[in-house]
Amino acid sequence: KREHTRLPSWLKTPIPTNENYKRIKSDLRGLGLHTVCEEARCPNISDCWGGDKKSAATATIMLMGDTCTRGCRFCSVKTSRTPPPLDVHEPENTAEALSRWGLGYVVLTSVDRDDLADGGSRHFAETIMKIKQKAPAMLVEALTGDFFGDLEQVKLVAQSGLDVYAHNVETTPELTPFVRDRRATFPQSIAVLRTAKEARPDLITKTSIMLGLGETEAQLHDTLRQLRAANVDVVTFGQYMRPTKRHMKVEEYVTPEVFELWRQRALEMGFLYCASGPLVRSSYKAGEAFIENVLK
Ligand code: SF4
Ligand code: SF4
Repeated sequence: KREHTRLPSWLKTPIPTNENYKRIKSDLRGLGLHTVCEEARCPNISDCWGGDKKSAATATIMLMGDTCTRGCRFCSVKTSRTPPPLDVHEPENTAEALSRWGLGYVVLTSVDRDDLADGGSRHFAETIMKIKQKAPAMLVEALTGDFFGDLEQVKLVAQSGLDVYAHNVETTPELTPFVRDRRATFPQSIAVLRTAKEARPDLITKTSIMLGLGETEAQLHDTLRQLRAANVDVVTFGQYMRPTKRHMKVEEYVTPEVFELWRQRALEMGFLYCASGPLVRSSYKAGEAFIENVLK
């Protein structure tokens, strides 16, 4: 509580109220879908669900359960070496519910499942294929883990019919060992993004970086350079927020002006588009950004 009152003013958000948001929220009832947007009480929900058009509305769905086999120092998801088995009906049920919801853009994400031989890649691919069968106009982004560097799994997901392949590097190479689970490395993440693009060159690839972890300007610049060298199309920047006292500390609250500066730099370096701001998350208004920048 006390930590919250010390937050800079730009991190305090109003309660969502707009009409489109309310309508989408009531549509969701009874479909049995669990959105990260609601469960994580994401502050962007009225921006993402509420935009002007439902065709651009974006929501994030978590697949493969709520228990991760990894433990990153910034993340509040619960962890276990042996999470419960996959729900084999999830791809069909998710696709069916999403098609009835009639949203414009869905982000499918998951915990990391190092306990599964394929890391869950077939489950991801099956869900994407079923969504595209039932709701061909829906734009689909998959935000995956690194499949422990098994690039065959990345190819399988990349070739399943999705529109955007996202994988988050989260931070600079220098900070990676202190921020992410020790099984995640920066070069492995670059290989995931490069492989997705090579497997389907017309795919948009995307990554996200948290600021405020102690990264330097030079490190961040070099990170962007390496991402562009791997043909990554889109980057997003958001403020790292500490979920609990057991998680790593915030080193700095980066100002909205500095976020804007990084957005401009990213565009100058050749990224197709960039969402950047204290409250931005990798899926922030992703539907609207895709429609404006890719389908234009
Ligand atoms: Fe949902 Fe992502 Fe938007 Fe938050 S930023 S409301 S999690 S789609
Ligand atoms: Fe959280 Fe993803 Fe790390 Fe798992 S792999 S602990 S879900 S950030």
